Amino acid sequence: MATTALRDEAVGLLQELLRLNTVNPPGNETIAAELLRAYLEDSGVACELYALEPERANLVARMPGRGDGPSLLLLSHTDTVVAEPAEWSVDPWSGELRDGCVWGRGALDMKGHVAAAATAIATLAREGFEPAGDLVFAATADEEVGVDVGLSWLCRAHPEAVRTDYCVNEGGGERVALGGRPAYLCTTAEKMSAPFRIVAHGRSGHASMPGIADNALVRAARLIDRVAALRFQPRLIPETEALFAAIGDVPHPAQLEEAVAELPREVREMVEPMLGVAVSPTMISASELTNVIPGRCEVVCDCRLLPGDTPVDVEPAIRAALGQDSYDLEWIEAIGGTRSPLDTPLWDAIAAFVAEDDPDAGVVPVVSVGFTDSHFLREAFGTVAYGFFPMRTMDPDLAARLIHSADERIEIADLELGVRFLRHVAATLGA
Ligand SMILES: [Zn+2]
Repeated sequence: MATTALRDEAVGLLQELLRLNTVNPPGNETIAAELLRAYLEDSGVACELYALEPERANLVARMPGRGDGPSLLLLSHTDTVVAEPAEWSVDPWSGELRDGCVWGRGALDMKGHVAAAATAIATLAREGFEPAGDLVFAATADEEVGVDVGLSWLCRAHPEAVRTDYCVNEGGGERVALGGRPAYLCTTAEKMSAPFRIVAHGRSGHASMPGIADNALVRAARLIDRVAALRFQPRLIPETEALFAAIGDVPHPAQLEEAVAELPREVREMVEPMLGVAVSPTMISASELTNVIPGRCEVVCDCRLLPGDTPVDVEPAIRAALGQDSYDLEWIEAIGGTRSPLDTPLWDAIAAFVAEDDPDAGVVPVVSVGFTDSHFLREAFGTVAYGFFPMRTMDPDLAARLIHSADERIEIADLELGVRFLRHVAATLGA
């Protein structure tokens, strides 16, 4: 199919999606699911809506496979974060075309990807493409907040709808300069989010007579200082080894810190969080009255672990930093931290697309420092899930600033690139 026709179809669909307000909360994603159902069924793709709450439907479309080839899921979400119209140059729900871009809340995160994936599967269906394994398109609700009505719920309540061998999701595809050569980032793993609570103990008392009390808030201040000063030894995992190999050489573990310090600033800021544990105190609560010295103070710390690590692995280092003092340490939860292997047919399909489309560039794996829905698929089904939506025209720093912010927009050239990429992956894995 001609590239201009693909582009126009994706742009039109994206404009329609942007005109639907699916700000989460409340989400209201059913209107987007209905729009996508009408569009896909017109092209002969069977659709099913799954909703725990009627207004918050997830759409799953399926092109049945002809044999026993691998199944592929093109995953996206239809909810967006809020937009404050006064901060925008255009109406955030207009889908306006301006300066070669489609503007609106969700253009990058991620209705552009939704429109590209829907266009890819619809056009392949109209061309009579029959994939070897099932080709599935899911546009889910509730990614931005996570009250368990989106993919996490689908994986439990309707696993047969979303279980596939491979998945392409959001969370990667930026084109950056690495070691003097352009490279597209492909997210193959993510850190585990494992926040913990430090409860400092003291003895409460009236603030008019501080001598009789033992102020837990003051004790917590000392503990906060110690946990904030905690530095974990950086170390390489397979994903960052491959990343360093793309930059130049894989440093010896003893020289890792030096090697990181020598990286250009933008690369260093990206790589540093992928090399170890990150701990940040973020919340505190103690006395609720001015005149009561607290006997107890709670400090919550955000904590992100490398994939493969668990709280048990890092707790001794945290306790050593906190030292001998009167406190308890409690882990609040541990979510994420899953990874997919790097040596897979999906990786090869992505690399082949880049080699053909942008021959000077490479593809490198990265670890997401945040959470994506890929985690639920890896955890439930062992799906090989990567975050990749190639972006070549828009500067990645600009894109990072626009996501969840004012004047969010996608370059039409990048939208078209995304459609061609997703068609390539579906055709290659489904050949
Ligand atoms: Zn998103």
